[in-house]
Amino acid sequence: MRPDAATEGPIAHWPRFANQTEYQTALAASEQMYAARWQWGQLLEATCDTPGRYRGYCGLCRQETEFVFTAGTGGPVNLREEMSCSRCQLNARIRVVLHLLQAFSLPGGPERIYLTEQTTRLYKFVRERWPEVIGSEFFDDSMQQRLTRYLKHLVSERELLRHEDVTALSFDGEALDVIISCDVLEHVPDYRQALAEFARVLRPGGRLLLTVPFMDQSADTTVRARLRDDGSIEHLEEPEYHGDPLDPKGVLAFYNFGWDLLDEVRRAGFREACWCLPWAPADGLFLGLWVLDARR
Ligand SMILES: [Zn+2]
Repeated sequence: MRPDAATEGPIAHWPRFANQTEYQTALAASEQMYAARWQWGQLLEATCDTPGRYRGYCGLCRQETEFVFTAGTGGPVNLREEMSCSRCQLNARIRVVLHLLQAFSLPGGPERIYLTEQTTRLYKFVRERWPEVIGSEFFDDSMQQRLTRYLKHLVSERELLRHEDVTALSFDGEALDVIISCDVLEHVPDYRQALAEFARVLRPGGRLLLTVPFMDQSADTTVRARLRDDGSIEHLEEPEYHGDPLDPKGVLAFYNFGWDLLDEVRRAGFREACWCLPWAPADGLFLGLWVLDARR
């Protein structure tokens, strides 16, 4: 068995960038290394003995495993939304967040963790290790029954579905140690208010882990759509809907974020903010799995 990822894993060496200039400097200084890493991910399918199965080690399951992806598409492997561990079923994007969580929060520890999701495998995984975790969904009356049924099926009969609006959280100030929000913020028209709420409810020193669609070559966020005063939606770009297992329509993305998101996070009240660029090919984690890591 490998050493505990929390203390000795590769995570301590994952590069972190506080702004775009730091990233560009690192790219220029290690051009060949980053190019090779990129190529490895792009050509992954050709390196597998069995189509659609990349052999490796899941640091969450702590066992050898196969990371599963759709083979034979002719295009590159989806290294973010696929590469699911055949044991825990978690995709690369979720595993990266959990590796970071484990690196500073030992399972069973006193941490007060909040996830901006509840009817997901991520919540189920965290719930089994940190039983006090709080998860929530944003839903209307028409979805409540369906979400409740799914939650009880996925996690346990005793689970109660919790509603939260990330722009008006019900928690007291400084009530939480960790917030994890995965691919939610791009769907929130007033995402700055959500960041302000995250800062309000985290204790000083508390941690925010965030994944969103991030354009690492772009200084500025692209606003894809915005709300008019009457509540209707004005599209500034071709509408983009992200998959939602419980909503066939999908959910509209209002933003593709750029490096300026770090400034917004700091402005909202976080002391430190950086983008972390994970890299752990043995764990099925290749380039592009950006996670925003901020400290209150
Ligand atoms: Zn696993």
